[in-house]
Amino acid sequence: MEVAVIDERCVGQGMCVLYAPQAFVLSDEDGRSQARFRQVPPELEDAVRRAAQACPEQAIIVTE
Ligand code: SF4
Repeated sequence: MEVAVIDERCVGQGMCVLYAPQAFVLSDEDGRSQARFRQVPPELEDAVRRAAQACPEQAIIVTE
């Protein structure tokens, strides 16, 4: 499973970091989220899916 954040859609509300702090980090510069990795470790897949569903901007793209 892979994950990516579409930078132009992210508004930096941080829901993804609440749901999956091991997978996302907010930039110190612009507050937008970045995925810490592209290939999701198996133990984080459920948390990443929940983060993607919680993102109000549909900015998190998960590829199964
Ligand atoms: S939840 Fe979505 S909009 Fe909010 S910081 Fe994360 S990726 Fe960006």
